[in-house]
Amino acid sequence: MTEGNEMQARRQAMVAEVEAEVADTRKWLGKRRLDPRVVAAMAKVPRHRFVPTVNQRHAYENRPQPIGHGQTISQPYMVAIMTDLADIQPDDRVLEIGTGCGYQTAILAELAAQVFSVEIVPELAGPAAARLRDLGCTNVEVMCGDGALGWSDRAPFDAIVVTAAAWQRIPPALIAQLAPGGRLIIPVDRSASAARFPYLDQDQELMVVTKDKEGRIAERNVLPVAFVPLVERSADPAA
Ligand code: SAH
Repeated sequence: MTEGNEMQARRQAMVAEVEAEVADTRKWLGKRRLDPRVVAAMAKVPRHRFVPTVNQRHAYENRPQPIGHGQTISQPYMVAIMTDLADIQPDDRVLEIGTGCGYQTAILAELAAQVFSVEIVPELAGPAAARLRDLGCTNVEVMCGDGALGWSDRAPFDAIVVTAAAWQRIPPALIAQLAPGGRLIIPVDRSASAARFPYLDQDQELMVVTKDKEGRIAERNVLPVAFVPLVERSADPAA
């Protein structure tokens, strides 16, 4: 088998695992199957190109992986359900907060017209932008900055996907930058103190926030999750 074929086979196996986990968690998700467009995007994007070379043989396991700078590439299942919940349409303008390595960005770029992604760590933002360019994602813009503030120059957005956990509340700028009819997918950490140790003592829920045509906001919890914290410089008095 050539390396290309081998990676493709592993990717297909990953997609099958993700679909099985979706079926297992149907009570939370309210559906037993992913949108076929999400499945097609997961089957297409070469996830192994988004992880450090030493971890490439683990790239298609259904779990998060370290990518350096204390950050991770999200679990394939999580990328799939967040993308599915965002219900991306071909004409949509999408904001992603937390580019990381750019994997979720690439999945969103398969489905949307335009993807705008904000990453706070410069050492991740630069390489992610270059990687996405190399892979031919021409409908993506990456900015280094504080995503808790959104990206006002590019707003409004039909969908916003936040891949780090906000503490206690949904950043108001993100709700403001959501277009009427828009969907915001965000993990929110309700634990008493802001997380210092990701994955420990956290009480995170993945939430879907919708804005209707009249601008009314509705929220629902989907399922418990474990994300790295969303750094909120704007909320830090010492910043
Ligand atoms: N979307 C990525 C997940 C990366 S993990 C994937 O597909 O795998 C979450 C990322 O959010 C990290 O890279 C972290 O540096 C970034 N992050 C944390 N706080 C942020 C903020 N306020 N603004 C932008 N990015 C932030």
